[in-house]
Amino acid sequence: MSKELVYTVEDEIHIQQLIKYNLESNGYRVITFDSGESLLRECKNAVPDLFILDIMLPGIDGFEVCRQLRQNVQTKNVPIIMLTAKNDEFDKVLGLELGADDYITKPFSVRELLARVKAIFRRVNTALPSESEIIKHGNITIDCTRREVYKDSNLLEMPLKEFELLKLLILNKGKVLSRDLLLEKIWGFDYYGETRTVDVHIRYLRQKIEDDDSNPAYIETVRGIGYRFNDKGVK
Ligand code: CA
Repeated sequence: MSKELVYTVEDEIHIQQLIKYNLESNGYRVITFDSGESLLRECKNAVPDLFILDIMLPGIDGFEVCRQLRQNVQTKNVPIIMLTAKNDEFDKVLGLELGADDYITKPFSVRELLARVKAIFRRVNTALPSESEIIKHGNITIDCTRREVYKDSNLLEMPLKEFELLKLLILNKGKVLSRDLLLEKIWGFDYYGETRTVDVHIRYLRQKIEDDDSNPAYIETVRGIGYRFNDKGVK
């Protein structure tokens, strides 16, 4: 297996070294940068398989780096993990809205870092099924053509919005989707509902697909942000 290349920008040297050392010990190649500008410059020479971006940096910040990476044809599909300060919900939401795939809250453990990085690669290495295909996850089956959802072999009663919400979550499994993003994607820009609408539909979905909807195994709540379809532990 070829070694995946990771670019990380972080001006705190000890964190930079922590990331480099631990990812390299796990078989990844890592190039570290002290500033967003130098990382963006290097992307003109070679594009990595993953970016890990700190937010607070000298010069342009991590959000700006993220924005520029998403605007560039070469880098727009390369996954991005943001390093955010503890409990800063605004940073997490903004990062995800700008196109980051995940975030890691500082201070973080080595175990968490590796888990997040592995999850990202597991995801990008799994091709998304096309519209006409059948998506299976655990005991849930979605037939996109027929717009039908089955739990085991039982057909579930599912209105269109719930169906679309489930499909969006499952196609992005492992990725945190903010309430605002879900609202925009499923209900559209013109919808002036509150993000509570999303919560209500998630509740209906859980009642249908979860074995125990008060202790959901599929749809996780990510506090203060939104939801994530669990990609762990289920084939
Ligand atoms: Ca920093």
